Amino acid sequence: MSPAVPRRPLIAANWKMNKLRADAESFCRALRAGTGGDETAAVDVLVCPPTILLGTVAAGLGGSVVEWGGQDVHAEPSGAYTGDVAAVQLADFGCRWVLCGHSERRRDHHEDDALVARKAATARAHGLEPVVCVGESQQERRAGATFEVLGRQLDALLDGLGDVEEGPGLTLAYEPIWAIGTGDTATPTMAQEAHAFLRRRLTERLGDERAEAIRLLYGGSAKPGNVAELIVEADIDGFLVGGASLDADDFLAIISSSAAAAG
Ligand code: PEP
Repeated sequence: MSPAVPRRPLIAANWKMNKLRADAESFCRALRAGTGGDETAAVDVLVCPPTILLGTVAAGLGGSVVEWGGQDVHAEPSGAYTGDVAAVQLADFGCRWVLCGHSERRRDHHEDDALVARKAATARAHGLEPVVCVGESQQERRAGATFEVLGRQLDALLDGLGDVEEGPGLTLAYEPIWAIGTGDTATPTMAQEAHAFLRRRLTERLGDERAEAIRLLYGGSAKPGNVAELIVEADIDGFLVGGASLDADDFLAIISSSAAAAG
């Protein structure tokens, strides 16, 4: 089924723990100069810097077509959580988005499916749209467990979110762990199979209309040379980009190539 309203691709940068203020400023200048025209008008663009650079990025991108968001959020709204960031603080910096459950958070900070769902729910309760990352490891794919893993991650998320009719939207990012930062991208067929599975499960849980409106991003070594062949797949609605988002020229090439293929 094709969506009643076509899904607008979203191209999101995840800088992870990289860049200093001066790099962030020059990146924002380049991004601002390279977006906003007809060539990139077909897509939405988001930058997720480290929390400490949110003020720099907000100043650098304010008034442009590019939005910014956090890389993580605490599940509690406020309190004694040293080093963490609250949803309301992200919103205070002009964020409308936050990544939740990136595989590096799941691995390094022991975030399980239930915690990721709580984070996404807290984000939505404070007006932020969560981009929730799901994906299988190499071992799970080899064992034929990809759909089982994706189904478990998605079900836990939807169970924890409850009613998603009201409030900010929901975006998912399919990020096979074996493709993140490795240079090994999922083929368009592999990625589309996983996205189609997620869409079917969303339809079962939320109904056609809601499922068709949710954007499914692909992440895992997306780069200027491979995004055009991925974005034309029916259920690939954009990209979450790590390594290739650190260089403004590469990120702009991903944006324009996706916009050309999608538009
Ligand atoms: C990511 O970390 O979200 C990611 C997709 O990284 P990379 O593009 O470097 O594989």
